[in-house]
Amino acid sequence: MQYLFDENGRRYLDAFAGIVTVSCGHCHPEILNAITEQSKLLQHATTIYLHHAIADFAEALASKMPGNLKVVYFVNSGSEANELAMMMARLYTGNLGMISLRNAYHGGSSGSYHFNCLRVGCLLVACKSQGEIHHVVNPDPYRGVFGSDANRYAKDLQDHIDFGTSGKVAGFIAETIQGAGGAVELAPGYLKPVYDIVRKAGGVCIADEVQTGFGRTGSNYWGFETQGVIPDIVTMAKGIGNGLPLGAVVTTPEIASVLAQKIQFNTFGGNPVCSAGGLAVLRVIDQEKRQAHCADVGSHLLKRLRALQQTHEIIGDVRGRGLMVGIELVTDRNEKTPAKVETAVLFEKLRELGILVGKGGLHGNVFRIKPPMCFNRDDADFLVDALDHAISKL
Ligand code: PMP
Repeated sequence: MQYLFDENGRRYLDAFAGIVTVSCGHCHPEILNAITEQSKLLQHATTIYLHHAIADFAEALASKMPGNLKVVYFVNSGSEANELAMMMARLYTGNLGMISLRNAYHGGSSGSYHFNCLRVGCLLVACKSQGEIHHVVNPDPYRGVFGSDANRYAKDLQDHIDFGTSGKVAGFIAETIQGAGGAVELAPGYLKPVYDIVRKAGGVCIADEVQTGFGRTGSNYWGFETQGVIPDIVTMAKGIGNGLPLGAVVTTPEIASVLAQKIQFNTFGGNPVCSAGGLAVLRVIDQEKRQAHCADVGSHLLKRLRALQQTHEIIGDVRGRGLMVGIELVTDRNEKTPAKVETAVLFEKLRELGILVGKGGLHGNVFRIKPPMCFNRDDADFLVDALDHAISKL
């Protein structure tokens, strides 16, 4: 279900899914049933003991991954998943430098894994890691310095490695569509040359699929598939559990082997109830063919929003893929001046009209439309008509 109700019983169309998390819809009966039944059997065991729920889920998740991405670690959130991925990259390569994109969001924790250095046996990493994060120019087709020219952005990253690091890096991490950054889709063709450059510099490539994963972009399962690459490590959370606290890191046996002699421990990671819920999520996506639905409704939504853009000067950019859509508002189209105040006003107005959307981007001037994947064409029309009405009244 794509609706939420307030304490007075008023219905709201949920176009943000609890920050891109309730991807299969609120209170989905199959997921509800799976977690209820698992709760009766076993609620918690820790990852010390293998149980059916975790084994079945890990196997099913690995079957959705391309290439040799077959080893699954469970954690509780996207932040934890990215920290574990970073630690793997550093241990595997023996390098420290991590590269990410400006405007990216990969989590809210402050490197807590590194404080537990003795446990994981990476004292050197712990001592030196904090300063070794490099941010490179964002391949943002709307605001980026090189427009949609993927090769120039890739060249910039190469220059950064050549002149800003020792020449060796541990890894590169990116979302294929930046979520919190305002639904910014990386310039088409960017990841292929970048993955080559990073690997030549000794690093591994990490895809953050916390928002783009699980069919939302309308392609297969993962956002990276839209760029024709296969990462070395994939991190996921949010939609993986449809609201249950769950995250995962999937990598190759070779990279995973660096953790084999270490204590890799997570009390709640792979909790039986979350695992049963995660397995049900995969079933629902497959049974309900969510990718095709996202592609269909997403293209309808984009078409209608682009038509609206012709009517309202304030709509500077409409972008996205599937049900991961951004609407960037500006007070001046040429200057691309962020319409920050207007965005805040419209955000409240949409809520009054019964629609919950997300708000984000570097300047807080982007509406993020990332609803539960059962959001349909009628919902898209309702949203666009309401936005049209609200902007007209500004
Ligand atoms: N990566 C991305 C792309 C995210 O959007 C987020 C959360 N917004 C995170 C990582 C962190 O996830 P969490 O809040 O579950 O720690």
